[in-house]
Amino acid sequence: MNNERVFALYEPLHESLVQLNRYIYDNPEMGNEEFKAVAAHKALLTEHGFTFTDGYLGIPTAFRAEYQGKKPGPTIGFLAEYDALPGMGHGCGHNMVGTTASGAGILLSKVIDEIGGRVIVYGTPAEETVGGKVLMTEMGAFDDCDITLSSHPYDDDVESGSSLAEEDLQFVFLGKPSHAAAAPELGINALDACLATFHNINALREHVPSTVRMHGIITEGGLAANIVPERAVAQFSLRAKTLAYMQELAEKVKNCARAGALATGAKLEITNYEPSYFDMITNKKLQAQLNKNLNALGITDIKPGIEGPYSTDVGNVSHACPSIHNDFNIYAPGEERFPTHTPEFREATIRPFALEAMKTNILGLVLTACDIIEDPQLLTEINEEFKKATAAERG
Ligand SMILES: [Zn+2]
Ligand SMILES: [Zn+2]
Repeated sequence: MNNERVFALYEPLHESLVQLNRYIYDNPEMGNEEFKAVAAHKALLTEHGFTFTDGYLGIPTAFRAEYQGKKPGPTIGFLAEYDALPGMGHGCGHNMVGTTASGAGILLSKVIDEIGGRVIVYGTPAEETVGGKVLMTEMGAFDDCDITLSSHPYDDDVESGSSLAEEDLQFVFLGKPSHAAAAPELGINALDACLATFHNINALREHVPSTVRMHGIITEGGLAANIVPERAVAQFSLRAKTLAYMQELAEKVKNCARAGALATGAKLEITNYEPSYFDMITNKKLQAQLNKNLNALGITDIKPGIEGPYSTDVGNVSHACPSIHNDFNIYAPGEERFPTHTPEFREATIRPFALEAMKTNILGLVLTACDIIEDPQLLTEINEEFKKATAAERG
């Protein structure tokens, strides 16, 4: 695709994207309550001929906006986010994450009749809380995509990296109450089972890779000191580098709780109190293609992707189809750079430099999507890498 042509098609869109970004900034909504944001995306996407589905997959603030080209070809997915942070508005800049996705989707739709294929913009709610993409992936939302692209404003230009798999386990121990002084021998102490679990997990900590994270709290531990605790509840958040190891680790941690229950005679119920995140598998071939296009647009100092000690719901998507999630710098040269989740970062997302950076990133994404549609060999190589990476993960 001719770059100049794509640039020219972008220009008439820019002002409406600036307005969308600003509107969502001015109307921050918490995860799964982003109705105004969805309505704003809907207005713009339908204006540009997209078929729009509200409440996609039964999730009230998820959406799917599709533009089918006149010729067959690959399906390119863009992932929009639009949830805010409590007390801080768009401190993570999801006003811009969403605007970038819809902007890229609309721009690609302008050339897709000519080059073939299909573009889908997905509205993915509640990234900061329950991770809307987890459920959407489970329900097969991304199964018909050939690739997905998404980007996050940041304090630097950084390639898509990796993140940890996460599983959140809840242990409910059920014992038997009794007078703790007069008849302790008749009781079964659920709190002791819970405390034993913590000790067992602390012993396990020594024998897991250093990248593993296991952090827990006790949310219920008895009602009065003179009653043998009948019920105790602990929650543990586990993180590991790969999905395969996560599954092994979760089993070991469950055994720690089972041992605590066995030692005390308490009954044990195990549940997941949050959806499970998969680790992020960055498709390197896809990122390399984006780098090439961003370099040509003047973004030359792109830092290598980091192994993030956190979890993201894009990780789940990256197990469904080849995906990348890059960061783009929104600070002007010399400007003080504040990290995400700060009021200063929020304010940076509406400044002129950030809006120019968003434009450049959208152009990079769309040129990359065009390359994939126009070069079947490139998509084949991306798919081969994806198959290898996901097979290795599953062990
Ligand atoms: Zn965030
Ligand atoms: Zn974010």
